[in-house]
Amino acid sequence: MPILIDRRKLLIGGLAAGFASPRALLAGDDGATIPIADMHAHLFFFGANTPAKQPLRKTMARGGVTLAAWSIVGDVPWIRPTKAGLKQVASPKAGEASAWFREELKRVKHHLDEQELKIVRNPEDVDRAVAGEPHVVLAVEGASFLDDDPDMLAFAYEEGVRHVQLLHYIRNTLGDFQTGRREHDGLTTRGTDIVSSCNRLGILVDLAHCTPAAVDDALAAAKVPLVWSHGSVAQDAKGQTSKVAWKARQLPLTQARAIAERTASSACGPCAPISAVGSRPTLIGCRRWPNGWARIMSVSAPT
Ligand SMILES: [Zn+2]
Repeated sequence: MPILIDRRKLLIGGLAAGFASPRALLAGDDGATIPIADMHAHLFFFGANTPAKQPLRKTMARGGVTLAAWSIVGDVPWIRPTKAGLKQVASPKAGEASAWFREELKRVKHHLDEQELKIVRNPEDVDRAVAGEPHVVLAVEGASFLDDDPDMLAFAYEEGVRHVQLLHYIRNTLGDFQTGRREHDGLTTRGTDIVSSCNRLGILVDLAHCTPAAVDDALAAAKVPLVWSHGSVAQDAKGQTSKVAWKARQLPLTQARAIAERTASSACGPCAPISAVGSRPTLIGCRRWPNGWARIMSVSAPT
C-alpha cells in the first residue's frame, strides 16, 4: 500500500508552490496554526533563489508548512522559457536524464542534511509532520530520469523518492504531455507499466502535465489514488490549442472529478487531491477542513 495514500491529510492538504501564505490566514478559529502540506515545491541550485539564499527549513517555517514535496525537475537542462511558456530545446541522450537526476538528488539530500530536515519514507513520517516536525517528500517532475533502465524506479524508491510525476515539458517514452505534440494518444504501455510499478512500490503518481487521454489511461491502470499536484481546473479546458501557457495547462473539470472520485472511493475523503493554481500569484481562497488541515487555492502561477 503506498505510504502516502494512507495519510489522507497529505492529499487533502494540497498546496501550490511558494510557501507564500500569510500565517494569519491559516489559523483556525481557536487561533492554532493549521499544518500545511505543499504538494509541489521547487528550489533550484542555480539562479537567484538557491537553497543557500533561501534555506528550506526557514522557508517552510515562515509559511507554516510542515510537509513539503520538493520536486526535482527531471528535464530542466532541456527546457527554456519562451513567450509561450516553457519549451523543449534539446533532447537528453541515453543516460543523461538519469545522470542529471542522480546529481540533483545528491544536491537536494545534501541541503536537507544541512537543514536537518528529514525525508518522508513511511506513513509514520507523515504523522510526525502532522504533529509539527517538518519533513520533506522527495518528488520528481517529469520521469525522463527512468531512461531505458528497468532498475531506475526501484533505485529512486531506495533513495527515498515517494512521488513521481510522469510528464513535464519534454518528450519521453511514457506518454503525451499537455504542451507538446501528441505522439502516443495518451500513455504508452511503458507509461501504464510505470503507474503499476509505482503503485506496487508505494510511490505516489502525479498526473500534472498529462494530456486528457494520458490522465484517462493512468486512471484505468492505477489501483490506488493519484494526484494532480498543480495546474488549474476549467469546465472547458482548451489544452494545447491555447497559446496562453497557463491555460494550456488546465485540467478539464470532468477529469478533475474522476481523480477526486478515485480518491473518494479509496478512503481519502471527499476532497480532490488537486492543487488548483490560478494565473496570478495571489491567495484567493483558503478553508479549513474538518481534520484540521487547510487547502489553499491559488497562490502562484503554474509551471
Ligand atoms: Zn509543472
